[in-house]
Amino acid sequence: MSTFADLGLKEPINRALLDLGYEKPTVIQEKAIPQILSSSDDLKAFAQTGTGKTAAFSLPVIELTDEKDSVTQAIILSPTRELAVQIGKNIEDFAKYIPELKVLTVYGGANIDQQIKQLRKGVQIVVGTPGRTVDLIRRRALKLNNVKWLVLDEADEMLNMGFKEELDKVLEATPDTKQTLLFSATFPREVEAIASNYMTNPVEVTSGQKNQGSDNVTHEYYTVSERTRYPALKRIADVNPNIYAIVFCRTRRETQEVADKLIQDGYNADALHGDLSQAQRDSVMEKFRKKNIQMLVATDVAARGLDVDNLTHVINHKLPDQIENYNHRSGRTGRAGNKGISIALVNRKERGKLNPIERILKKKFVQTQIPTGKEICEKQLFHLIDKVENTAVNTSQIESFLPNIYEKLSSLTREELIQKFVSLEFNSFLSYYENAPDLNNMSSSRDRDNRERLSSDKMTRFFINLGRKDRLNPAKLMGLINEQNIAKNVEIGAIDILDTFSFFEIDKEHTTEALDAFLKNQPEFNGRMVNIEITKERNSGGGRRRNSNSRNSNRRGGGDRDNGSRGFGRKRRDSSSSNKPKGGSSQREFGRRRRSSDK
Ligand code: AMP
Repeated sequence: MSTFADLGLKEPINRALLDLGYEKPTVIQEKAIPQILSSSDDLKAFAQTGTGKTAAFSLPVIELTDEKDSVTQAIILSPTRELAVQIGKNIEDFAKYIPELKVLTVYGGANIDQQIKQLRKGVQIVVGTPGRTVDLIRRRALKLNNVKWLVLDEADEMLNMGFKEELDKVLEATPDTKQTLLFSATFPREVEAIASNYMTNPVEVTSGQKNQGSDNVTHEYYTVSERTRYPALKRIADVNPNIYAIVFCRTRRETQEVADKLIQDGYNADALHGDLSQAQRDSVMEKFRKKNIQMLVATDVAARGLDVDNLTHVINHKLPDQIENYNHRSGRTGRAGNKGISIALVNRKERGKLNPIERILKKKFVQTQIPTGKEICEKQLFHLIDKVENTAVNTSQIESFLPNIYEKLSSLTREELIQKFVSLEFNSFLSYYENAPDLNNMSSSRDRDNRERLSSDKMTRFFINLGRKDRLNPAKLMGLINEQNIAKNVEIGAIDILDTFSFFEIDKEHTTEALDAFLKNQPEFNGRMVNIEITKERNSGGGRRRNSNSRNSNRRGGGDRDNGSRGFGRKRRDSSSSNKPKGGSSQREFGRRRRSSDK
């Protein structure tokens, strides 16, 4: 294999690559870089996510850009802010020994005046999201008449996101003489149309078979029903104590709901979706990169810019609407030579989507059984024992306490001591999974018994459009519910006050009356119209122990049988640090219930 210098890159770039630890070009780099350097033909590159495509287009563009000339010479379009920022950062790193070369990343949500100011100073390479790029062209701040390279990165995603019109506008603003470089992991019809409309006899390069998934990824599917989908997700997490995964959801709401449930059940999880502010997204991504979050629940779009190489799993909580996106999702794992597992949770109807995906991947999904409680306990137990075995003991720090501890435990035999210590760490796990139903049976046969066990709670969970920002608290929410005179003796269950919305539970028997009462009374709260809706699923508890600050001990109904205070085999996170749309944090108030007034 060649080196970067063999590909014809200049010394300052090679030096920067060495600093970054890039020793050898990847396949796509080896193919695309010399092609772009030696020819002004348009280029169509098929490259999986994680194959090094950013460097494949950036390095030759940096090489050929005239840094002495301050006009904009390259425009790189990318579908999301995160991806644009990532590309901009990469280019800065690659060009760090070429100080005259200026790069600017432009995207919506950031101060446009600042961006205009920067552009006026002279920027040779602009990276942008389509919307903001067009905005800057309209304001005549971004001039593309001298552009030599137009890069369309993840063109399929730009089209998925409805940026066709913006792409047309950007193309109109660029000269016919430019070279267009189109990079994508998948090439559905719409992208082929872009290639044929916008490019002239493009040269094709590929770092593998078109649209085919990475060889390092195994694809598994689990059969679930709507009732078992979330419990199955938890079991997958529980049977993989070192899981480091992205859980993909189709909508922002689904994303937030799944993340909220995981957090409430004590997992190191958080949500990433478009309703979060840029600062919140950055913060979640940073935590995920540092592995402070083990399960990132995300929409396809939000996860695009995330550059993480060592994910153990990608989990499709629901399959994407467009099957091509499965490839994008699963390509987040199995990167940089690592192995990865991509899991699809599918109900009977969704099973049909697997065949066309298999045809694209040229690989078969392996049907996998949802782990049983026993399997999970076994796995967790041995994980714990391994951890104990590998724990370093700092004798100097604990030395002074040891004589007293030995004395106190002297009556116990070695076996008793081990049993007690294992029980201390493990009881809540065992009790959670003791008698746990086989979810496979529940998904595949009509095992009424099991279904009833899982839906044993007697409460309906409601969404309400008020949150902490409306100065709502549990007492006020209970007051509001009681004011609606739903019925006599209505029990109120768990209340979750979030930033901009909340959840509460009401005795299932009064579900319709509760909806009717809110509809009829049309109450207002601090000047806001109040809406309530039934949420689809209610939290069914989890195998993880809760965060120590969760007050769940009074909780009734539902599957939350574990009320220990310590996380299992992993770092725990404070549920109050979870991300909620626009700056929220979660606060659970359990077990608060009272009878309604008998007015
Ligand atoms: P990309 O496909 O551009 O998102 O790159 C995937 C990951 O591979 C990123 O973390 C890059 O920093 C890294 N990478 C790209 N090219 C190389 C290379 N030649 N050697 C080592 N790492 C690389």
